[in-house]
Amino acid sequence: MQNLEEAIQLLKNDNIIAIPTETVYGLAGNAFSDNAVKKIFRLKNRPWNNPLIVHIGSLNELDSLAKDIPEVAYHLASTFWPGPLTIILKKKDKVAKTVTAGLDTVAVRIPDHPLTLKLLERLDFPLAAPSANPFGSISSSRAEHVENYFKDQLDLILDGGECTKGIESTIIGFDQNEEPVLYRHGSISLEQVEEIVGEVKIFNQSGKRPIAPGMLPKHYSPETISFLTDDVLKTVNLFKGKKVGLLLFKEKRPNLPLIHQEVLSKSGNYSEAAKNLYVAMHRLDQKKLDAIIFEKFPEEDLGKAINDKLRRAAHAAQ
Ligand code: AMP
Ligand code: MG
Repeated sequence: MQNLEEAIQLLKNDNIIAIPTETVYGLAGNAFSDNAVKKIFRLKNRPWNNPLIVHIGSLNELDSLAKDIPEVAYHLASTFWPGPLTIILKKKDKVAKTVTAGLDTVAVRIPDHPLTLKLLERLDFPLAAPSANPFGSISSSRAEHVENYFKDQLDLILDGGECTKGIESTIIGFDQNEEPVLYRHGSISLEQVEEIVGEVKIFNQSGKRPIAPGMLPKHYSPETISFLTDDVLKTVNLFKGKKVGLLLFKEKRPNLPLIHQEVLSKSGNYSEAAKNLYVAMHRLDQKKLDAIIFEKFPEEDLGKAINDKLRRAAHAAQ
C-alpha cells in the first residue's frame, strides 16, 4: 500500500492527486485548504464559478460540513451512500468559499470505491474532487485516461481499475420547502430516487448562471465533431466518403462494414452501457475520425442520464 501512504502525504501537503471512484476518476485535494482547492481549478482549467463536490468517508462527517440538514437528506444518504448520489446542503463556514464557488450550499457524497474509502478514512479532512478531465472534455473512467490528460502535472494517479458505474453522480438538492430537486442526471436513475422520496422536480436553469458544470449545454465532449441522432442510418448517409465512428446502444449495423462501431451493451443493459460510455467515447476520439455519431437511448431509467451526457457531448443534434 505504498501508494496510499504517498497519497496521504501528498494531500496533507496541499498537493492534488487523481483518485478512483465508482463514477469517474477525480482530481482530489484537501477541501479545507484554499490553496489546494485553487490548484484543482487551475489544473482543470475550470471556471471559478463552478463548485466542486466534497467527498467524505462516513456519514458522521456530514454535520461538520452542512447545517439545517432536512430529514429527507439523511434518508437519501443512508439509502444510497456510499454511492453515486451527491446531495446539496446549506454549508457551514468551515467549508471554503472557493470549493462552493461562492454559493452558500455545499455538494457532498461518500464515494463507493474501496481504495478511496480507505484513503478518506486515513485523512482528517474531506476531499474536494471534480472529474479528472480538462474542463469540458470527456471524463476519465480509467487511470490511463487521466494519464493521457495530466501526465506531467500530477504527482500521483491512484489506479483503482476501471470505474464500475462509469458516469457522474446524480445530484439532488432541495428547494425552500425542503422538496427534492434534481440538478444533474447521473448514475442513480431518477426513478430510483423517486422510489425513496416521491416526485422530484427537475431544476430549471433558464436565465440563471449554471451552478453545475454538468448542466452546461456543452460538456463531456470529444475533440471529434459529434452528432446525436435517433436515426443512425440517415445520419451516416450524410457523411458519404468520410471516416465515421458510431456509438451505439446494443446493435452493430452490419451493412456498414467500414465504419468504426462501438456497442455499449449487447444485452441492452443500461448500467453496462453507462459503464462503457466514456471508455468507448475516448476510443472513438483517438481514431481521428471525421465525425462521431451517437445513437440516442430510450428515455427511461439510466437511458435518461446517458442521453443527457450524449446531448452535451454532441456538437449538434441531427
Ligand atoms: P464533476 O465532479 O466534474 O462532476 O462536477 C461536480 C458537479 O457538482 C458539478 O456539476 C458542480 O457544479 C456540482 N456542484 C457542486 N457543488 C454544487 C452546489 N453547491 N450547487 C449545485 N451544484 C453543485
Ligand atoms: Mg466533470
